[in-house]
Amino acid sequence: MTEKIYLTDSYVKEFDATVTEITGNFVVLNKTAFYPSGGGQPSDTGKILCNGKEFEVISVKNSGENVLHELINAEGLSVGDKVKGILNWERRHALMKMHSAAHILSKIIFSETGALFTGNQLGEKESRMDFSVKEFDRELLNSFEEKANNAITQNLNVIVSFLERDEAFEIPELFRLKNVLPKEIPVFRIVSIGNFDVQADGGTHVKNTSEIGRIKITNLKNKGAENKRIYFELI
Ligand SMILES: [Zn+2]
Repeated sequence: MTEKIYLTDSYVKEFDATVTEITGNFVVLNKTAFYPSGGGQPSDTGKILCNGKEFEVISVKNSGENVLHELINAEGLSVGDKVKGILNWERRHALMKMHSAAHILSKIIFSETGALFTGNQLGEKESRMDFSVKEFDRELLNSFEEKANNAITQNLNVIVSFLERDEAFEIPELFRLKNVLPKEIPVFRIVSIGNFDVQADGGTHVKNTSEIGRIKITNLKNKGAENKRIYFELI
């Protein structure tokens, strides 16, 4: 089982670990700060250093309770090796800003229209979110953008906490993603943005909304009668 450092501290950029498994070019460590793709947030990239050699991490994914680091070439690494992991921090921090921004935007849209979000894909430069709603127009988007930016400029602290399953289900607003009923999870990870928003979430976030900058909604696409896709950037 890999200890997932990013779940409790998303600002760890470098860490020491031990290799526990190697299958082809996929390496498991006893702990990691590399975020595996999930929840619309792409995986981290970076490198693993061992005995003066450098191994490039090109993608990261979950596998049961382990995290698999895909290397370009794992030749030269052995189980038991002590390694240092180094994240591509510029990429990770861009994705953290995007993820926190996405929560703020989806909260505004849910409060204003009742629209649940049905999926999202975060990117370093541009992100998109899908909402289950019949109609959005440019005027509405401008008001979402303005309200989201007003929330961001309040410099809200973003806090990660953990809640037992029973307690979590007493707060229905924790689960805003449509059609996803979280099963068999005994403890939920909760991401709170000041008193503004609270969500059950596995992703990495900034510490304070002051890091985000400003949201700019760049495009709107019709993805069906009751599905609208919004694109946004941070400026
Ligand atoms: Zn999230």
